[in-house]
Amino acid sequence: MRVDIITVLPGLLEGPFSHSILKRAEEKGLAEVRLHDLRKYGIGKQKSVDDYAFGGGAGMVMMVEPIIRCISDLKDQRDYDEVIYMSPDGERFTQSMANGLSLKQNLIILCGHYKGVDERVREHLITREISIGDYVLSGGELAAAVVTDAVIRLLPGVLNDETSALTDSYQDGLLAPPVYTRPADYAGWKVPEVLLSGHAAKIESWRFEQSVRRTRERRPDLPAGTPTLEKGDNIEDKKDK
Ligand code: SAH
Repeated sequence: MRVDIITVLPGLLEGPFSHSILKRAEEKGLAEVRLHDLRKYGIGKQKSVDDYAFGGGAGMVMMVEPIIRCISDLKDQRDYDEVIYMSPDGERFTQSMANGLSLKQNLIILCGHYKGVDERVREHLITREISIGDYVLSGGELAAAVVTDAVIRLLPGVLNDETSALTDSYQDGLLAPPVYTRPADYAGWKVPEVLLSGHAAKIESWRFEQSVRRTRERRPDLPAGTPTLEKGDNIEDKKDK
């Protein structure tokens, strides 16, 4: 997978992509993340990328032309599955969107700044708009890092234990169960007995119960939060019941 991120602040993203799992994914050749400084495509001596809003009002707007130039440059080199714009009024980012995006080959992510981008960019160039939540950030970079991280960790081979992404929260409509590590007894704080039993089936069933309980308590809005759920039930079938 290749992710091309267009930004006016590439420095803001260098950190997240040079550490941990994202770095490992690059080293293993499973994912390539490239940062593109929009200013290189800016207009005039100043390399401007923004201008005043028509109609007045506070805040600058990112211009069409530098963005078109940058995206065209990238499209000349390869085909893209999606050209994503990070935006607080976009589709809310979820695990199932991350799953879907992890099946794509090439993605462009455009990070906005100031008041956002000229609407014509959104109308003519963008194929998808994603929000990471109902709040406003000062730029799209951190949101792009969130989306890229959530997607890249799903690529086969990126996590050491490939199954571990599947047992995380939201993968099956359930929150993850509690986890423990050594010591089994910390000054009287004990790990649940069942986890020390070595009995795989009992452990699996305990984890499932805990997941369901946690989901009902914390996220009754999720499909698995319905009281009718039994182990082995298809959660998708339970959604509207
Ligand atoms: N004027 C816009 C906000 C602009 S914030 C509005 O009110 O909707 C500047 C940039 O930060 C946006 O263009 C977008 O790229 C990014 N951004 C801000 N909040 C975001 C969020 N919740 N999700 C994704 N991107 C966001």
